[in-house]
Amino acid sequence: LFYFYTYSFLAIVIMTYGAINYPKILKLANKSSHKSEWKIAFGLIIFTLVSYVTFIILYVFGSQLATDIITISIFYFVSVYVLQTIDLLYKTLKESFQKNNDINKYADHLEVMVQKRTQEYQNKNEEIEKTVNELTDFKKAMLSILEDMSNSEDQLKVALMESDALNMVSQTITWSADWDKMVSYVTKVIALNMEAPKSAIFIYNSDSNSLVAQKGSYGFTPKEIELLDVDTDESLNGIAYKTKTVIQTSDIQSEKNACPQKVHFDHSKMITAPVYDGKNIIGTICCIDPNRDIKSSKVKDFYEKLSNVASVIISNSKLINQIEVKESEEQAILKSIGEGLLVVDNLGNIEDINKIAENNFGIKKEDVLGKNVAGLLGFHELETLLSDFGATYDRKHVEKMGHRMECILKDEKYICAAGKNSFHKNCRGCNIFHVAAQKKMNLAFTKTTNFTFSAIISPILSDSSEVIGQVLTMHDVTKEVLMNRAKDEFLSVTSHELRTPMTAVMGNIKMVLDGDAGKVDDMMREYLNDAYIGSQRLLALVEDMLNVSRIEQGRMQYNISPFDIDTAIKYVFNTLKGIASQKNLYLKPLNHDCVKVVGDENKIIEVITNLVGNALKFTEGGGISIGYAIVGNKLQVSIADTGIGISKEDETKLFQKFSQVNLTLTNQKGGTGLGLYICRQYVEAMGGKIWIDKSEPGRGTIFAFTLPLA
Ligand code: ADP
Repeated sequence: LFYFYTYSFLAIVIMTYGAINYPKILKLANKSSHKSEWKIAFGLIIFTLVSYVTFIILYVFGSQLATDIITISIFYFVSVYVLQTIDLLYKTLKESFQKNNDINKYADHLEVMVQKRTQEYQNKNEEIEKTVNELTDFKKAMLSILEDMSNSEDQLKVALMESDALNMVSQTITWSADWDKMVSYVTKVIALNMEAPKSAIFIYNSDSNSLVAQKGSYGFTPKEIELLDVDTDESLNGIAYKTKTVIQTSDIQSEKNACPQKVHFDHSKMITAPVYDGKNIIGTICCIDPNRDIKSSKVKDFYEKLSNVASVIISNSKLINQIEVKESEEQAILKSIGEGLLVVDNLGNIEDINKIAENNFGIKKEDVLGKNVAGLLGFHELETLLSDFGATYDRKHVEKMGHRMECILKDEKYICAAGKNSFHKNCRGCNIFHVAAQKKMNLAFTKTTNFTFSAIISPILSDSSEVIGQVLTMHDVTKEVLMNRAKDEFLSVTSHELRTPMTAVMGNIKMVLDGDAGKVDDMMREYLNDAYIGSQRLLALVEDMLNVSRIEQGRMQYNISPFDIDTAIKYVFNTLKGIASQKNLYLKPLNHDCVKVVGDENKIIEVITNLVGNALKFTEGGGISIGYAIVGNKLQVSIADTGIGISKEDETKLFQKFSQVNLTLTNQKGGTGLGLYICRQYVEAMGGKIWIDKSEPGRGTIFAFTLPLA
């Protein structure tokens, strides 16, 4: 019974343990590769247990048979279970062995791999190490650079400070022309930068062979400055001046050359450097008791730089002074010259005017400066010319096109064009829209000074050939004008007075020659003929002089109307054909068209008569041809001869009063030298022009003039 209970108890413990663990085992068994075997094993266990429980119950209720069968079946199932368990164990062990094998293989593989990787890592490591080393080197380099940088930062700071200081020196001085002011600025900036209480500029004086401290030097009283001049041979400044180097001392009292002569300063440190005026050393710039380490080369360099900048300023200041002196000299000259002067900008705004011009125009400089000349001067034409050099051209149009008027002076004429390249040799003449000589005019200041001035207006050209303004210079010609007027009046009066008796003389001679006073013998005829020709010439001269005086006094009358040029030419040919045939010269009209021009027909007949008459006079073989053609809106008449011609040099002399060339010849031919002058006055008064178109000595001349078409 004891065994029974013991077994029962054990069975219950086992069952309980099994009941607790079986679900877990079952769970795992489900995942096992021997799932079915495990299930059988469990089934057997459960069956065994059920049999066992049944056996106990039956045993308790006393059924002997049933217990035997149950016992047998329990043993049977237990035996099967044991066998099954052994099989399972075998399989499990085998499997685990297999697994182990696989694991070992895998482990081997892993080992190889690990070794490989290790090798790789080792290699990598080496590389990394190398890189790290390199990195370290780099870092070191970086560090040294950083170190350098921090060093150079110091330098940078110094440089910045220096440049600041230098800028300060150059900026604070607005290139002051005021020497004292400049000295005070420069020395102040130098003292500030050197952290010094005093700084002075010394300028060399050759008379005393000393360096003289300049007024305005920083930190010095005027009295001290007055006494402060140092011997060039016995001072540190003198050494700096002579050796052209920066000199410094930290113990000035022990320097035998250091003390200025007339005044004692209680200072210990000093630095001084030479200053230049652009070319030569003119003195020194000295700094007393600077707080900065003047022994250090950096500070010394810095001081040298400061003194160099100061030199530039000093030389500029000197230059400005010179310019100012020059300017005031110029002003004085302008004031004192007898010429009037007025300067305007390119728009005609007054920039300068001198006393003479002020008086003449009756204006005051202070009232008119900067103002436009329009309405200020009292001469409309002059104002127009001054307010726009290209007045006769559409300047605005040129500017709108984005060009600017540029001019060059060539053969005493200003050739102006739109844009610079117009003067390029490949662009000869293109864009040129204005050709002008200096403009000249006489200005009679009847309301103010009663003087007459001959005025010349010239453009002021910039370096880039642009017209930046104009200058009007006026020369007093009052005396000349008065004398001319007197002369003209005299001539006019005498001509008038001469004309009547001369006409009488001529008429009477003619009558005598015609036999009205009786028979004239050959001898008398010859004398009378000479007298007649002489009086004719005299009368012509008187006529010419009367005409000139009329022209000049503005009394010449013109009867302007349209007329046919061909008729006028024919008329002249008719009157002169006798002379032509006498000299065996041809007179050839080249055109026969009826072209109407506008002018005073009689005066144009006079002009053609004079030109053809001259041509006949100066031609010995060949003849004279006259032609005309329409050029633009004008008719151009050309008179060509095959005569003696005129040299280029002589050409410029013609068309002026009493101007004759080829004197020896012309003397023989007679004439007054007034003909061409009168012709020019007539033609120009009618809106035309007259000129020598072509002339070649020995081959002939072509005179041409134009007249407006009707
Ligand atoms: P004048 O004929 O009375 O002397 P002009 O004024 O008409 O005065 O002419 C001035 C000068 O010009 C002449 O003296 C002469 O020397 C020169 N001249 C004019 N026409 C000719 C010409 N066709 N050929 C050569 N010389 C000329």
